[in-house]
Amino acid sequence: MNAPIDGDERDRLRDQLMGMGNRSMRKSYYPELQEQGAELERFRVLMEHVPDAVFFVNISSMKVVDATAAASRMTGYDREELPQVDLTDLLAETGAALFRHMKAGGAGAPPGGAWATRLVSKTGRRVSVEVSCNLHRYRGQEYAVLVARDISERLRYEEELVRARKDAEEASRTKGEFLATMSHEIRTPLNGILGMAELLQDSGLQQRELRLLRLLTKSGHNLQRILNDILDFSKMEAGKLELVEEAFDLPDLAIGTVDFFAAKANVRKRLRISGKIPDDLNRTWIGDGGRIQQVLMNIVGNAVKFTREGEITVSVQEIRALPGVRCREILFCVKDTGEGIPADKLDSVFESFSQVDGTLSRSHQGTGLGLAICKQLVELMGGSIWVTGKEGKGCTFSFSLPLCPVYHGGADVSRTGESFQESPMHVLLVEDNKVNRIFARHLLVKRGHKVTCAVSGRAVLDILQKELPDCILMDIQMPEMDGMEATRRIREEVSRDIPVIALTAHAMQGDRERFLAAGMNDYLTKPLKPEALWSVLARVAGRESSIY
Ligand code: ADP
Repeated sequence: MNAPIDGDERDRLRDQLMGMGNRSMRKSYYPELQEQGAELERFRVLMEHVPDAVFFVNISSMKVVDATAAASRMTGYDREELPQVDLTDLLAETGAALFRHMKAGGAGAPPGGAWATRLVSKTGRRVSVEVSCNLHRYRGQEYAVLVARDISERLRYEEELVRARKDAEEASRTKGEFLATMSHEIRTPLNGILGMAELLQDSGLQQRELRLLRLLTKSGHNLQRILNDILDFSKMEAGKLELVEEAFDLPDLAIGTVDFFAAKANVRKRLRISGKIPDDLNRTWIGDGGRIQQVLMNIVGNAVKFTREGEITVSVQEIRALPGVRCREILFCVKDTGEGIPADKLDSVFESFSQVDGTLSRSHQGTGLGLAICKQLVELMGGSIWVTGKEGKGCTFSFSLPLCPVYHGGADVSRTGESFQESPMHVLLVEDNKVNRIFARHLLVKRGHKVTCAVSGRAVLDILQKELPDCILMDIQMPEMDGMEATRRIREEVSRDIPVIALTAHAMQGDRERFLAAGMNDYLTKPLKPEALWSVLARVAGRESSIY
């Protein structure tokens, strides 16, 4: 744009255009006047239609010389009124600083980078604007071209976004808390049911009762699995699922899974399940064995579910050594002769809540979450998962994972297959839930340990005045004094060394750190799994873990 034309200049040009009577003068000036007229017209159109409020300001007087129609709409002043308006009144909050800035010859952003300010309208209404400023010199006068853009909508939108984000964070936190409570409230009675069912099995029941008991246990385990899936899924959604690094044996994991399903599949279907794993993979590896087994169990479980007859083979093999590290890429494959998956569904089965047959009349039960969880777990472990096959011709689910074997003195540690039996101990079992207490006590006594029971944190402190057990299994949630408080008191008042193992139905991120900070040495999640309990007690006996 050319230099701004102030009111006097415009009037002079108009007079020149309209008032020239001298024909010869008109003739000689005509092309120039015509061009100036056209320029004025373009300028007028621009002033009318530019969406931003543009103010031409005389810097020495700080008065608005001219402004666009948008400036008039934004401020509420007529075009004729605007020249009387002082810029420092229009920009009440930053006008004075802007004035100094312009006087000092500043251009671009106003001082302090205050691009966003508020414009005061004729009625006193404040409009949020973003201001930019450029200087122009014309006929010895300094002018500023001030462009003010209305940003009220944008600010409102940004505020809404911030509010929406806050609401979403709050909802996510509430969801997390709700899940933690749900997990505790549902798992506790469920663990009780399953624990009691296990005890009943050894109580000399008749065949028919045993069969009913097995059905009860099966339904309980199904419910437990669904609950775990929902919890896993929510944790993944919240990015809160953590993997553990521990030593595990691949054959135990793979063949254990095959054996588990082989027993079940043979009973009801004409189905053979076999597994193969080469000898050189028969060693101890580092990784989250529990999660790898969860993926394998899910895939083999699906294969059993969707295969009426024929064969399921599970194979584990090494694909390649990973460059630069002493780790391998290991491939797990589960091949079945079942109903297969249509080609257009091969990818979508890994999406959450996705099922090939999603109708209410479908013949197989399921939540459609299993494979979505598998995919996320495998990817979290740095691997990938896929499926191949044809509808009606069975399918092969495969996943590959980078795994590192345990090296000991330069050699891989081979699996021994021997189980470690810890020496008998005196265990103080603190658990307020009667059913859980009976179950844990039964397990411990059967294993040869001496058990003292307490039902609250306060009772523990009383017991510890009289006797010092070898270790304490401490429930976290208890009335009166919870497990964390009781442990803090034990550390302060009784012993800094006695091992305290948390028993918790919560397994949310950050719990481990909270338990350790309270002075606990380790934790076990409920439902109590005998194997996990024995390995914790073995660690207590040998004090082999790093956290003791
Ligand atoms: P769920 O089995 O609980 O429905 P999954 O996520 O484990 O959920 O599986 C999603 C869907 O993928 C299943 O409903 C089924 O349609 C399909 N699917 C999974 N495994 C197989 C298989 N081995 N053969 C045929 N279809 C399968």
